[in-house]
Amino acid sequence: MNGIGSICVYCGSSNAGPPAHREMAATLGRGMVTRDIDLVYGGGRVGVMGAIADAVMAAGGRVTGVIPDFLMKHEVGHTALSALEIVETMHERKARMAELSDAFIVLPGGLGTLEELFEIVTWRQLGLHDKPVVAINPDGYWDPLRALIERAVETKYARPENAGLLAFADSPEGALDWLAGQAGRETHLDSDRL
Ligand code: AMP
Repeated sequence: MNGIGSICVYCGSSNAGPPAHREMAATLGRGMVTRDIDLVYGGGRVGVMGAIADAVMAAGGRVTGVIPDFLMKHEVGHTALSALEIVETMHERKARMAELSDAFIVLPGGLGTLEELFEIVTWRQLGLHDKPVVAINPDGYWDPLRALIERAVETKYARPENAGLLAFADSPEGALDWLAGQAGRETHLDSDRL
């Protein structure tokens, strides 16, 4: 990874959350286009997912969605992206999103977002990849998660250095600046073991 060319963004598929989260997703999307970074995401047209995809497309950027067939049929697939890859399974989707990306950003979301967050962090903990992961935490949304991770370290279930595999930023610009500081090293992804 000599620079960040593409970022996978994990975020909520619901429109019911605070509008500020969808606005922040749009700000992140525009910031990525300014920096010439492509978006990789789960291919939905709703919620925070739809907000970031629409913002990147509107700003003239490139978006690749990766969605399983069954979700595409059930309503939520975005049909106006640069590319939409339709896969068979959720596992295939997540592996493909990881392959296509140089880094990962987590925005507010629900249980699916939490699952994706922990999967990518624990894949890194196991050495299956070494791409950076940062969560944007503007209004303290992720504070309970940070506290739980700290608890796991205090209790010695997690190593302090592994807790550090998930970074936190206060804003989209803060996350992009932090990722820019991580670039310039080689990264790998062990696709056969995911
Ligand atoms: P949510 O945060 O629950 O709105 O979900 C955000 C994204 O996570 C959506 O693209 C969902 O398809 C995806 N998702 C939901 N459940 C899971 C799961 N069990 N494993 C992986 N991804 C999921």
